[in-house]
Amino acid sequence: MRIDIITLFPEMFAPVLGDSIIGRAQKSGAVEIHTHQLRDFAFDKHRRVDDTPYGGGMGMLMKAEPIALCFEAICKETGERPYFIYMSPQGKTLRQSRLRELTEHQNICILCGHYEGVDQRLLDSLIDEEISIGDYVLTGGEIPAMVFTDALCRMVPGVLTNNECFTEESHFSGLLEYPQYTKPSEWRGIPVPEVLLSGHHQNIEKWRKEQSIEVTKRKRPDLLNQS
Ligand code: SAM
Repeated sequence: MRIDIITLFPEMFAPVLGDSIIGRAQKSGAVEIHTHQLRDFAFDKHRRVDDTPYGGGMGMLMKAEPIALCFEAICKETGERPYFIYMSPQGKTLRQSRLRELTEHQNICILCGHYEGVDQRLLDSLIDEEISIGDYVLTGGEIPAMVFTDALCRMVPGVLTNNECFTEESHFSGLLEYPQYTKPSEWRGIPVPEVLLSGHHQNIEKWRKEQSIEVTKRKRPDLLNQS
């Protein structure tokens, strides 16, 4: 999968996505992440990427033309039109099930907004989907784009050791994950549940399923009512 990110702050991405699992996935070629400096596509007299909103009001808005030019350059580079996502507090809140569907795309482009947001005409003409990372407002789309990219990339085949790493996890099946324990088998007088030491795989499987439901009921009962 190839991900292109349009941003005013491309240097923010490498320290977060260049290391650990996503960094290794880039090195192995399982995913490609490219950042694009939007200012390089501001060709008017003052090379501006933002301007005041019509009708007045606070703050500045990102202009449509530099974003359109940057996206067109990415389309040319990739040889196809990537699925174009705008990180926005007005989008649908990101869920694991949507991430799973989005792994079907080979090319995804992400627009990081800033200031008060983006000229509506650009959103109406080019954006395929707006995605929010939660019902709160951040200063820019870079952190949401990193959250989205990390969560998406780890579901791309070849990024994690095997698919069980995410299919067993919280949210994949609509439930939270069961409790887990590591060595020692007793820590400060607290033992690991006996069934996990039994070596009886069916019983362990059954216990984990029951615990998953129990944990979800306790921590996130709202998930049990969602389809
Ligand atoms: N004026 C906009 C509004 O009220 O909808 C908010 C703009 S916000 C200050 C600047 C940028 O941060 C947005 O264009 C978006 O890219 C990003 N952003 C802020 N909160 C976000 C969230 N919860 N999810 C995704 N992106 C967000």
